[in-house]
Amino acid sequence: MACRQFDKAADAINLPDAIRDRTKYPRRCLAVALPIKRQDGSVTVFEGYRVQHNLSTGPSKGGIRFHQNVTIGEVAALAMWMSWKCSLVGLPYGGAKGGIIVDPNQLTESELEHLSRRYMQELVNFVGPHTDVPAPDVGTNEKIMGWMMDTYSNHVGHVEPAVVTGKPIALGGSQGRREATGAGVAYLVKRYLEDLKIPVTEATVAIQGFGNVGSETAIALARYGAKIVAISDYTGAVHNAGGINIEKALAYLRYQKVLRDFDGGEAISNEQLLELPCTVLVPAALERVITEQNATKLRCRLLAEAANGPTTNTADRIIEERGDIEVIPDVLCNSGGVVVSYFEWLQNLQNYYWDRDEVLKKLFAILDKAKESVEYQKRKFKFSRRLAALTLGIQRVAEAKQSRGLFP
Ligand code: NAD
Repeated sequence: MACRQFDKAADAINLPDAIRDRTKYPRRCLAVALPIKRQDGSVTVFEGYRVQHNLSTGPSKGGIRFHQNVTIGEVAALAMWMSWKCSLVGLPYGGAKGGIIVDPNQLTESELEHLSRRYMQELVNFVGPHTDVPAPDVGTNEKIMGWMMDTYSNHVGHVEPAVVTGKPIALGGSQGRREATGAGVAYLVKRYLEDLKIPVTEATVAIQGFGNVGSETAIALARYGAKIVAISDYTGAVHNAGGINIEKALAYLRYQKVLRDFDGGEAISNEQLLELPCTVLVPAALERVITEQNATKLRCRLLAEAANGPTTNTADRIIEERGDIEVIPDVLCNSGGVVVSYFEWLQNLQNYYWDRDEVLKKLFAILDKAKESVEYQKRKFKFSRRLAALTLGIQRVAEAKQSRGLFP
């Protein structure tokens, strides 16, 4: 899916053959076996990956996913999208991604710590503040980033906070990082609703996935005055046309860990959530949930891709042909996360820390600029918004590679 998107974008901007494959192929990848002693004394070997797609414009950057369905192909696709995303918003980074094939819900806290530390141990010579800087993604969080930072620091013999982002504040994490991706999604939704002349206070929102990104998007959009009519996690979805009390849902989640049986609305399936009538649909879970089967059935006005790759290429074509849904493509929509990760890295390297207002102000300024350049590219070449965003990202990476020349 990521490769087909690249081919289409490269064709659209006539990317010369000499630079095409160099820009497309991941630079390198590491596959590791991770043996962990379990609580019951047995040993399980997990499989992990790290793919660095582009290292031409700075260290590579991207999250680490802990999920039972991780594959090396998925990690490579996510790394590729990170390259275009970083380039689109103007960060001095290439793209990377990592993952372990594991369901973190099946591990005890200490098994999770051992697995996280063992993975970082295997990555010690592959990552670093000026090589590759990991961050959280699906199934990972601040605590895990803290363990990884500690493992790396122990190895190099000094405190090295800039090796990962998304850390706890006490270890050099940035103010505003936890909410950054969701706050960025909500900000862009508000800006695009303004373009559509729909008051945010009249907007209804359905959100698939209520983890870091989904829940923070819900909080920020509810603060803007939007009505959140549906939320979900892997155990199912909840619908309430009168609006879901997000604080109550968060409190429920803190104790129950999952949304199953949350009584803030009627229980529906994740598939039904995607087809609800609403102003804004926000997929914020995993990739490929909007497919040729349901693309014709969507009933939203704005599709805000908080997740990476939620829309298959066929579904994307169907939505484009329908013409009644505006799409904020993933590389733009969820870029707030990596922007504030960049701020965290900068603060770590300078040992000078910013307050939350400064972080969010700088974030929104970058998102405004990225939105503007995407809209300009879209108008100028009559591209879809996704093609506009991807071509901008790809073009800049290709230009950097061309300027550097080919070694040796
Ligand atoms: P997370 O692990 O915090 O949350 C994931 C959520 O999705 C959970 O609520 C989980 O229950 C739900 N989920 C999992 N499988 C599901 C399914 N089959 N159906 C419905 N819900 C399901 O992960 P996250 O960090 O919030 O990431 C979500 C998405 O956002 C991913 O696509 C990720 O790549 C993307 N993203 C994350 C960040 C970040 O800063 N964390 C930044 C950019 C993009």
